[in-house]
Amino acid sequence: MLQFTKLRLSGFKSFADNTEVDIMNGLNGIVGPNGCGKSNLVEAMRWLMGETSAKSLRGGEMDDVIFAGTGKRSSRNFAEVVLTLKNPDKTAPEPFREMETIEVSRRIDRGMGSDYRINGKVVRAGDVQLLFADSSTGANSPAIVSQGRVTALIQAKPVERRRVLEDAAAISG
Ligand code: ATP
Repeated sequence: MLQFTKLRLSGFKSFADNTEVDIMNGLNGIVGPNGCGKSNLVEAMRWLMGETSAKSLRGGEMDDVIFAGTGKRSSRNFAEVVLTLKNPDKTAPEPFREMETIEVSRRIDRGMGSDYRINGKVVRAGDVQLLFADSSTGANSPAIVSQGRVTALIQAKPVERRRVLEDAAAISG
């Protein structure tokens, strides 16, 4: 199984400075007061996996994920999120199967759109989406349950519910 081991953010939403979060084995918790950025961390991960809807990231347009500045601090011109994956049992899909570490990143420059990289090489959004789909996760995967999503799953139409089953069966890729 692919292991998520590290999340790095720079200029993403409230994370103006470079921030690195270790993701350990098993259950990880993020604790903090309301509005400190807990959901922003999960959104960073979904954005990196290829989320295309700014609305589902609580923004009006995609540039809204870039640090917008505060009274004391000016805004930034780009945002970047990097996720480090470990591949200890060589279960990553081709062409990454033999790689010990896979680094996936997405960067957006204000007014210019975003690009994706895997191990430093520019790739298409679809390549990143497929990598995660093959690992039974992704920006819209039912594996990521955010606030309000439980209701959405319960009320889902059969065709939407199919995603849950496909993810569980590990065939969505
Ligand atoms: P809660 O517990 O209330 O759900 P939370 O810890 O999950 O809160 P988030 O919702 O992740 O917190 O963070 C919200 C904060 O992020 C708000 O203070 C908001 O102003 C800030 N924020 C969101 N987008 C940006 C941006 N582009 N630039 C700067 N700050 C931002």
